[in-house]
Amino acid sequence: MEKKPFVTLQQVKEMAEKYPTPFHLYDEKGIRENARKLKEAFSWNKGFREYFAVKATPNPYLMEILKEEGIGADCSSFTELELSDAVGLKGHDIMFSSNVTPAKDFALAAKLGAIINFDDLTHVDFYEKIAPFQETMCCRYNPGGDFTLHNEIMDTPKDAKYGMTKAQMKEAFLKMKAHGVKHFGIHAFLASNTVALGYYPKLAKILFELAVELKKETGVHIAFINLSGGVGVNYRPDQEPNDIMAIGEGVRQAYEEVLTPEGMDDVAIFTELGRFMLAPYGHLIAQVIHEKHTYKEYIGLDACAANLMRPAMYGAYHHITVLGKENEPCDHKYDVTGGLCENNDKFAIDRMLPKIEIGDYVAIHDTGAHGFSMGYNYNGKLRSAEVLLKEDGTTKLIRRAETPADYFATLDYEGLKKYK
Ligand SMILES: *Cc1c(COP(=O)(O)O)cnc(C)c1O
Repeated sequence: MEKKPFVTLQQVKEMAEKYPTPFHLYDEKGIRENARKLKEAFSWNKGFREYFAVKATPNPYLMEILKEEGIGADCSSFTELELSDAVGLKGHDIMFSSNVTPAKDFALAAKLGAIINFDDLTHVDFYEKIAPFQETMCCRYNPGGDFTLHNEIMDTPKDAKYGMTKAQMKEAFLKMKAHGVKHFGIHAFLASNTVALGYYPKLAKILFELAVELKKETGVHIAFINLSGGVGVNYRPDQEPNDIMAIGEGVRQAYEEVLTPEGMDDVAIFTELGRFMLAPYGHLIAQVIHEKHTYKEYIGLDACAANLMRPAMYGAYHHITVLGKENEPCDHKYDVTGGLCENNDKFAIDRMLPKIEIGDYVAIHDTGAHGFSMGYNYNGKLRSAEVLLKEDGTTKLIRRAETPADYFATLDYEGLKKYK
């Protein structure tokens, strides 16, 4: 499959006059269309709700767009809760799926009336000293072992720090039931960035069977199953994108097979997707500022791993389009790099691209989630701006770029005052 940018060179040139590169650009139209498709895929389930994983792209303007599409927020920290509150998400619009949770985070989640998802049995006693239990509470499950799909190991829950065992789930439910909790949720996240249609349906079946068992053994009402994140995107052009309609249908079949016969057809399905909601609808826009010819051919951008960490951290592939050269042959082999003093600061290694000139603009694809948010300030590099390409074709600055004053803001040092 060809990967096409959602902007043209002409558009980017106009934007670059207003917003100096590099910047993260988001496509409102794509975001909304995808959100509607997800909703349609699960429309068979009355209580279906997506809670956007805020960590993926913690920008309130984007969260607002998602809110308008009926989407809530999945938070795991104090500031993510504050962001969600700031965009007007209330009570059960917020899921709090945290781990190693500080007391003040639980206190804020309880104050906002968020649905609290306990990562561990010990958190139940920890929480009891902080805030009263709410009518609805959730627990995170870890089945241990390997998670396989079609005999292939997708991930290894037994090595993951998250969630509790089945016996602990049962104990947690009974404890909370004794505290007056009436409705229970079950949550699990067993494999990340899957591009296999079978992931959600298989996870759903595991959780549905657990729900039946827990209901029988503890007598509690299971109100929802949270399938969490993990539905991935086709970062590589040779990958098929996930078909969300087929995934929704797969979950429906598991539901009818396991829950419906037990009379549990009031169970709502929740998701906490981050990557699937936004990754394809973001580009990191950067300009070529250097070329270098040594033992390899290098192209140097004004963006670096501080703006997009995934290639450096995971060796992740991100497709690159040289804007305006979409139809030129990819007959040059380049390493595309940033300027960090770290040799892993490479957006692409041995990538076949059209002949690149200094001044060319590139769009690095699929940076709408886990892109800006993983940014950092290594080498004193500053965080970039975030720009929204609105449905009407106009743009809006939704986060300004950092300045040295931001970088120095936490240092009360006389000699730096002149930079603030
Ligand atoms: C990261 C995370 C998500 C979102 O994962 P994606 O891969 O972005 O879909 C959802 N829930 C929890 C608890 C997470 O930690």
